[in-house]
Amino acid sequence: MTTVRLTARHWRTGEPRELVGDAAELAAFTSAAPERLWLAPPLVDPQVNGFAGVDFQAEAPDGADLERAAAALARHGCAQFFLTLITDAWDRLLAKLARLRTLRAASPALRDALAGWHVEGPFLSAKPGFHGAHDPTLMLDPTPERLRELREAAGPDRLLITLAPERRGALAAITEAVRLGLTVSLGHTDAPAECLRDAVAAGATGFTHLGNACPQLLDRHDNILWRVLDTPGLTVSLIADGRHVSPPLFRLLHRALPPERILYTTDAMAAAGAPPGRYTLGRLALEVGPDRVVRLPGQTHFAGSALTPIEAVCTAAAMLGVSWRETWARMSVTPARWLGLSLPEPGATTPGCLVETDAAGRPVRWQLLRAGG
Ligand SMILES: [Zn+2]
Repeated sequence: MTTVRLTARHWRTGEPRELVGDAAELAAFTSAAPERLWLAPPLVDPQVNGFAGVDFQAEAPDGADLERAAAALARHGCAQFFLTLITDAWDRLLAKLARLRTLRAASPALRDALAGWHVEGPFLSAKPGFHGAHDPTLMLDPTPERLRELREAAGPDRLLITLAPERRGALAAITEAVRLGLTVSLGHTDAPAECLRDAVAAGATGFTHLGNACPQLLDRHDNILWRVLDTPGLTVSLIADGRHVSPPLFRLLHRALPPERILYTTDAMAAAGAPPGRYTLGRLALEVGPDRVVRLPGQTHFAGSALTPIEAVCTAAAMLGVSWRETWARMSVTPARWLGLSLPEPGATTPGCLVETDAAGRPVRWQLLRAGG
């Protein structure tokens, strides 16, 4: 391997760091001005339903499909993600998870990239507006027994679950999930305030894509947004594409919540990192137009996004009117800490993401450095 030396600035401090890396990998950066090169931690996405034309909900994606999706995520700055399975018949969901685990075990690239599993459903609200793109007829109550079945299907892998705490038996199920080492996030829910607080007391630590999976029209006095903002102890994910959460609401959420309690996700589906067209999300046929919005044909509500991880960081920065260096943590160190992943500071011996910025300070080119410089 021919190596090349580059100087890049630390994403937080701006201090120069020397990088020694593969000349082929770094060729595009050798002519960049050193003050425009930055070294940041790799991005982490807790919710990816599909990517680059690959639908993770399909009955039988093969290993090559998954590797293609993981490689495309890496091209968008994301080194680790939680593959997300949405609501399906319970036995089918467990069988999919077991099959995906087998594919992951057989591929070193997937073992690196696929940091865990996010099971979103079927323990969700079936109420109109709250179930979103999930099939309400397949919703179930969570039970400790079902949580144990899920843990068995996932083996020792990291496991994140999104559930609605108002479902019958949910508090006992959350207690059991935490005992089994799961991270519990609340979502697709219309839980009363007291129920949200009880769920946090039982061990729930997150809230999934706040501002989505709720009806277009909400009671101005009492709705799930106000209740979540008034519930301490939750790390809240936001889909940072400027559409799932409007820019004014996005800014207000950043004023209302502690900065370390916000993380970004793409909630990407197969159309992300791929051209406009028709894609599937399990049994749903979805349309993605030139505006990059993912819709059920003929309907207004969204079903996943076509957002890529680095676009999420940059769109968040644009909405907040701050540098990408301020929003980057919410798609790297914050989700990593919340999910229990180790994500050391990027440096000479640890992986990182090399970012080149333009004269206005916006990222224009990036490259994941898997083995570090
Ligand atoms: Zn969702």
